[in-house]
Amino acid sequence: MELRILGCSGGEAEGERLTGLLVNGCVALDAGSITPALTVAEQIGIRHVFISHSHLDHICTLPFFTKNIFGHTREPVEIHALPETLDVLRRHLFNDELWPDFSVIPSPNDPTIRYTGIEPEQVYEVCGLRLTPIRVNHLVPCVGYLVEDGRDAFLFTSDTAETDRIWEIANATPNLRLVITEASFPNEQAWLAEASRHLTPAKLGVELKKLHRDVPVRIYHLTPGDRPVMLPQLHAIGDSRISLLTQDERLVW
Ligand SMILES: [Zn+2]
Ligand SMILES: [Zn+2]
Repeated sequence: MELRILGCSGGEAEGERLTGLLVNGCVALDAGSITPALTVAEQIGIRHVFISHSHLDHICTLPFFTKNIFGHTREPVEIHALPETLDVLRRHLFNDELWPDFSVIPSPNDPTIRYTGIEPEQVYEVCGLRLTPIRVNHLVPCVGYLVEDGRDAFLFTSDTAETDRIWEIANATPNLRLVITEASFPNEQAWLAEASRHLTPAKLGVELKKLHRDVPVRIYHLTPGDRPVMLPQLHAIGDSRISLLTQDERLVW
């Protein structure tokens, strides 16, 4: 399995792209950085996009992606997400006002994208991968994903505050190679983390006590500019599994 980190920042700035992972060139997890990170040819190679939740930093390149692939695909690209998330995309993004409705362009029978509703803890098999969405605790309905290829597995929690089920599943996955989880705000902004259902380094430390696996835990979603404050706080957790996830990284198992 090849995992490319297209973007892993909790905000956008020069050299800092928003959340996006690409697995085996075929499956995108979240769409915060498909278009600035990939060539058009690479974008055309994406057959499935699994969205964790509706927040803008996880979906914002979908419109430009659909425009780039238009006319280049034989089958619609499938956009997989919770029904609540798809509803937001339909009503607020691909609504002909913010962006044309590519789920009926060029025609309803032969569209550019197709929405596919997902259910937590059902397994979806695409591109030789098995993806399992797992509900996490965020301001809007949100899922993390367990991604497996029969030999190796990694877990992406997406944006979440304190949660339990995804850690239970991580503990029950024998071939788990990697966990990607978040820390969004410094400890001093615990009130903001609570209000927006994110983690601070201190809260992450509590969460990681639920993960009983000796695997690398890579941290994403730091707010740009907060890194100097947050790095010592992440270090202070004293968990040797932790390091920051980095943009443009390729992990191969
Ligand atoms: Zn979010
Ligand atoms: Zn986010």
